[in-house]
Amino acid sequence: MKWNRAAVEVAEAQRRLLERVVPLGAQRVPLLQSFSRTLAADVAATHPVPHFVKSGMDGYAVRHADILGACLEQPVVLRVNQVIACGAVPTQSVEAREAARIMTGAMLPEGADTVVPFELTEECWAGKSRTDEAGEERDGRDGRDGRVLADGFKNVRILQVVSKGRNTSAVGEEMADGDKLMERGRVIAAGEAALLATFGYETVSVVRKPRVAILTTGSELLPVEAPLQPGKIRNSNRYLLAALVESAGGELVALDTVPDDVRRAEAFLQDMMSRVDLVITTGGVSVGDFDIMADLLERWGGDMLFNKVEMRPGSVTSAGVRGDVLLCALSGNPSACFVGFELFVRPVIHALLGRSEVLPATFTARLQGDYAKGNIYPRYLRARTCIQDGLLLVEPVEKNQSSVTVTIKDADCLVLIPPGGGARAGDLVTVLRLS
Ligand code: AMP
Ligand code: MG
Repeated sequence: MKWNRAAVEVAEAQRRLLERVVPLGAQRVPLLQSFSRTLAADVAATHPVPHFVKSGMDGYAVRHADILGACLEQPVVLRVNQVIACGAVPTQSVEAREAARIMTGAMLPEGADTVVPFELTEECWAGKSRTDEAGEERDGRDGRDGRVLADGFKNVRILQVVSKGRNTSAVGEEMADGDKLMERGRVIAAGEAALLATFGYETVSVVRKPRVAILTTGSELLPVEAPLQPGKIRNSNRYLLAALVESAGGELVALDTVPDDVRRAEAFLQDMMSRVDLVITTGGVSVGDFDIMADLLERWGGDMLFNKVEMRPGSVTSAGVRGDVLLCALSGNPSACFVGFELFVRPVIHALLGRSEVLPATFTARLQGDYAKGNIYPRYLRARTCIQDGLLLVEPVEKNQSSVTVTIKDADCLVLIPPGGGARAGDLVTVLRLS
């Protein structure tokens, strides 16, 4: 079994995994705790926005018919009948040759249909302009903070006509009642949170986080706090995977390490069956004498989905399912583990979350430098994007072997090198974006 493996294409392996994903149920969380979570239900507008006619500027609400022809030489003088602050309800309507002093976001009074910004007006009283020293004394304003005093409703000169409806927002202009706004499966970021708040969602229905267990296997693994010993290494995949799971939106509920001992690994797996949605293992999945995962995948009681994938690195990546619990067995080689996570595990977590696009987005870019190494399988090369002379290039990271840890941090994409003799500088290559 370890030796007789039929390789499937990456897309087929992804399909087999995703087909077995059962999207998770919902839970309610406070809006402030919903960021990065996934909407469990569609969201529609429950009222128009704005729900009252609104001023878009600080200025004067007027009847458009009154300001026709207004210009510097022949300003139109209107009587100011009220001051409308943001949040206030107008106390009276604007009648012919009247204006209401109004602030941005405040409710337009009846009768008014247009707002003329302060910049195009001039306050006046008994025919005096605001710039007139004497007039300023008498126009009822406090010169320092511009507040209109209680008896300060005076006249205003409109110095320029603006078009009808200008600087006002009609009811429902931004969103009409019942408008579909967001679909379930959408991640809540800043814009989504603002929209939810607009419609009074103090709490939000989000998809429950996938419960994930990580098992790192290998008799060489030392805990992070242990001093180095000959032949042993610190267990870096444990932290690599924990960080990846968190970034994908999963909840880490168990994290264990076992030596190359199939019974220990099996005990962990059995224990997890009733506790998690997904188990990720690393190490022991290859054909070495102490590689235990092949044995384990035969005896754990689940279905094998695949145990070899046409890809480099990590062709031995395997997966299975038991009931609703998925198992992804990744290579122990740190970079292969990383690539395996991005190609298979992150999509599974996102599918559990009910997200719509779960596979890495792809784009095309030019390869920076030759990649001479050929292979019978497609290679997913860790790389970073860069822009040169306005062109998008992808540059493979240095030290891109599957065994290295040092360059995992440098990659923001995976370049797909097709099977064959590698790729040349300047070739157009398919690139998978990493989140
Ligand atoms: P394996 O997949 O068990 O054949 O391991 C392949 C390589 O990855 C070996 O050099 C291991 O020492 C290394 N390796 C396995 N597990 C880990 C881990 N958890 N952290 C860091 N390196 C690991
Ligand atoms: Mg091993």
